Amino acid sequence: MYNLLAVSYGEIFLKGKNRGSFEQKLIEQIRFSLKGFKDVKIYKDLGKVFIETMHENDMDNIIEKVKKVFGIVLISPSIKVDKDIELIKEKTIELFKFLSNNQEIKTFKINTRRSDKTFPYKSMDFSAIMGGVILEAFPNVNVDVHNPDIHIYIDIKHYAYISSEKIKTVGGLPRGTNGRALLLLSGGIDSPVAGYMIAKRGVEIDALYFHTYPFTSERANEKVKELAEKLEEYCGKIKLYSINILDVHKAIKQHCREDETTILARRFMMRIAEKIALEQGIDMLITGESLGQVASQTMKSMAVIENAINIPILKPVIGMDKTEIIDIARQIGTYDTSILPYDDCCSVFAPKNPVIKPKLQSILKSESNLDIEGLVEKAYSTLEII
Ligand code: ATP
Ligand code: MG
Repeated sequence: MYNLLAVSYGEIFLKGKNRGSFEQKLIEQIRFSLKGFKDVKIYKDLGKVFIETMHENDMDNIIEKVKKVFGIVLISPSIKVDKDIELIKEKTIELFKFLSNNQEIKTFKINTRRSDKTFPYKSMDFSAIMGGVILEAFPNVNVDVHNPDIHIYIDIKHYAYISSEKIKTVGGLPRGTNGRALLLLSGGIDSPVAGYMIAKRGVEIDALYFHTYPFTSERANEKVKELAEKLEEYCGKIKLYSINILDVHKAIKQHCREDETTILARRFMMRIAEKIALEQGIDMLITGESLGQVASQTMKSMAVIENAINIPILKPVIGMDKTEIIDIARQIGTYDTSILPYDDCCSVFAPKNPVIKPKLQSILKSESNLDIEGLVEKAYSTLEII
């Protein structure tokens, strides 16, 4: 029935100049998410974005993709016709017939919106006319303006658009309307969810993965790559960096207290991440830390870890329970990949009894046994873009 989707976005924040670039970024992201489809046209008509396909059979799959584009609030499968009143009548009847094949309709309501003020009928008048048309064509149905079985929406712009269904989508802000951040992406459950949550607010995401090859396998790399690909359905193109942090772990193991190794390693991870971020012109890091989840995520541990760097770290899942994080991971499709059993670097070098209340003085003392800058540089030299 449908070959067109009308896209509605939250317009509350859109004033003046912002609007154009907001729409442009939204269209770019829609285009990215539909790159696998042929003969798709995306265009604007009087303040709304439309997606038109020449292949009606693609529509269900297109809807599934577009549902994941941040910045869209609702989509409506629609029919597009020239603004000819006879044509509008004909297509409205056709749509009504189609809808009554799928459900029993006793009552309906017509809602007209006239964005093109040159259209000769006022919205209310046009709704009344079209209501009459339906009543005549379908003698067994009635109008109910309060609680109808179905709504028919007629939107008058450069074309007329007729629709009935409004599908709720993911919301958020379009990619690239809110800067860039570097996601520390492990193979776990939490960090992909964290990336998703920040990307949802219009942030473009780069991702960084630390490994300890050959202690960690090639499969662990593949797993992270797969997670990044799944995130791309929502977040758009993700540049994925990897760093081999093996020498850092070795040096820590050799020169420092065992119970502090996790904290020390994480301070190095942050330093390296900060260096990459600054070089890429990125302002903030993102991690999947959740308060109290493990020894390195207590208040004291996080304070000591963050003391190593100056740029802010966003932790969108900080106040969430594991079950809540898992719910989102399932919903965005990263969960099944996250639970694959390939280790990331930290579990290989994890101490048996990590400190849960590390003291900064003690950590600094341990670090005085290490060539911090040399180790950061050495790890940095292993940077690869996957
Ligand atoms: P996740 O499920 O995201 O792996 P976690 O509960 O296992 O988190 P940690 O291993 O302590 O927790 O890691 C906390 C955060 O540090 C992760 O969410 C991630 O952002 C980052 N991180 C941990 N390990 C790595 C890694 N190997 N590469 C990149 N980032 C990492
Ligand atoms: Mg982890």
